[in-house]
Amino acid sequence: MKLRVKVDYSTYSALKEVEKEYREVLEDAINYGLSNKTTSFTRIKAGIYKTEREKHKDLPSHYIYTACEDASERLDSFEKLKKRGRAYTEKPSVRRVTIHLDDHLWKFSLDTISISTKRSRVFISPTFPKIFWRYYNKGWRIASEARFRLMKGNVVEFYVIFKRDEPKPYEPKAFIPVDLNENSVSVLINSKPLLLETNTKRITLGYEYRRKAITTGKSTKDREVRRKLKRLRERDKKVDIRRKLAKLIVKEAFESRSAIVLEDLPGRTPEHMIKDIKDKQLRLRIYRAAFSSMKNAIIEKAREFGVPVVLVNPSHTSTVCPFIGTKIVYQPDGGDAPRVGVCEKGKEKWHRDVVALYNLKKRAGDVSPVPLGSKESHDPPTVSRWLRAKSLHSIMNEHKMIEMKV
Ligand SMILES: [Zn+2]
Repeated sequence: MKLRVKVDYSTYSALKEVEKEYREVLEDAINYGLSNKTTSFTRIKAGIYKTEREKHKDLPSHYIYTACEDASERLDSFEKLKKRGRAYTEKPSVRRVTIHLDDHLWKFSLDTISISTKRSRVFISPTFPKIFWRYYNKGWRIASEARFRLMKGNVVEFYVIFKRDEPKPYEPKAFIPVDLNENSVSVLINSKPLLLETNTKRITLGYEYRRKAITTGKSTKDREVRRKLKRLRERDKKVDIRRKLAKLIVKEAFESRSAIVLEDLPGRTPEHMIKDIKDKQLRLRIYRAAFSSMKNAIIEKAREFGVPVVLVNPSHTSTVCPFIGTKIVYQPDGGDAPRVGVCEKGKEKWHRDVVALYNLKKRAGDVSPVPLGSKESHDPPTVSRWLRAKSLHSIMNEHKMIEMKV
């Protein structure tokens, strides 16, 4: 968060002196990193600390540390630009300097912020905007690192960073396996499967169709075309689905003190998934939206709540019987129920996604018995309208009510 503070002349000049020497250290640090082909903070610091300390005798020594850190970050992002062919200079140029501070170089209080300079500390008194108080009063903590930048007219821009400690993951009492698919996400709660439709593949294909209709025969640089494409809001829609689904699942796990079990999916599209899509680009897009981005959304949300996540081996999760490990045979041509298979030995019927759920749970180390061939194992409750649901429990209860009425 940026705080703008107007300071008096002597404060400003004391900070200006720091800026000048910080810039010199920063430039030396960058040059050292370049000539020694390293972006590592530790190596840069080890390489230049002694000489810089000699050169800048009255500069508080921690400015040398933070300048080395700054250099390491700049070198890192320069490397990345270079790899993408987007670096237009030979080396990272230091134009504007924002001075990095660590916990030795500044102290925060609501009255004044003090900053170390060459001779003594200077004090600045910002007025805090509303948004500051919103964070400050809502459990966010001010980080020990901060930054400042000198502007024209004796103005200091001071950046405080708010952080929130992530809760520690608890010891799980149960497991909630989550199986991701191109058009749905299934969960198993207290041995009850539930299939939530996401229609990710259908949505992606629908947008692809509409995008083609807009762009065919026209340049994508055309203003009208660009406006129309923007209005499609494909990403917004998918992000919304992901976010809400992740929240439902994580809340359920949090309240029952469970761990979430997910398949440890590869980063690239596995060819056997979404194999009916020929277009490689399109296949990758569906894979990302339905599998990897969905997985990441759940993991991220879980981290926020301190819900433990167990990643398990994804191979053959839907083709092995969770009772005895025999093969589950699906109709090669799909048939009427393409996602329902039969156990080779026990002859019981299984829905693909339910098999996967039980196998995921098993692989996470849960040895509780699998309930014997219920209707739900081959015909799980399927819910399409869950976007506004408050919890997975409420969805399940509602579904039970509907079934009873039927
Ligand atoms: Zn079986």
